Amino acid sequence: MESVQKARRMTRQRRKILEVLRGTDTHPTADWIFEQVRRVMPKISLGTVYRNLRVLKESGEILELNYGSTYSRFDGNTDNHYHFVCLSCGKIGDVMLPLSDQITRQAAGAVDGRVEFHRLEFYGTCGDCTIKQ
Ligand code: ZN
Ligand code: MN
Repeated sequence: MESVQKARRMTRQRRKILEVLRGTDTHPTADWIFEQVRRVMPKISLGTVYRNLRVLKESGEILELNYGSTYSRFDGNTDNHYHFVCLSCGKIGDVMLPLSDQITRQAAGAVDGRVEFHRLEFYGTCGDCTIKQ
């Protein structure tokens, strides 16, 4: 019985983590997600959050974004879309551009093998940071 209860708790925690992540477009860190989930599940540990994020990532329910910053950021939107990364504050925003079929076709002609999809990030300075400069 104990393992059944443990499994139920894991499922509940994982569902909450997914809900928190899908409820924001800020591409948060594991720490931020932990702080949010802890408000309703005070006993959850940061390690549990990390473990569940890994499981969710491996099952394709979330994306892990790592653009050379210290901490991984997570995205609840797994549909292919572009990102804008602020080089000044590290903020990551969605870029609502249609996906470019052209770049995929061009890559298909330039690689030995089959191209399935592409990912793209833009880098620059966000509006807030531009004002502060
Ligand atoms: Zn910024
Ligand atoms: Mn995104």
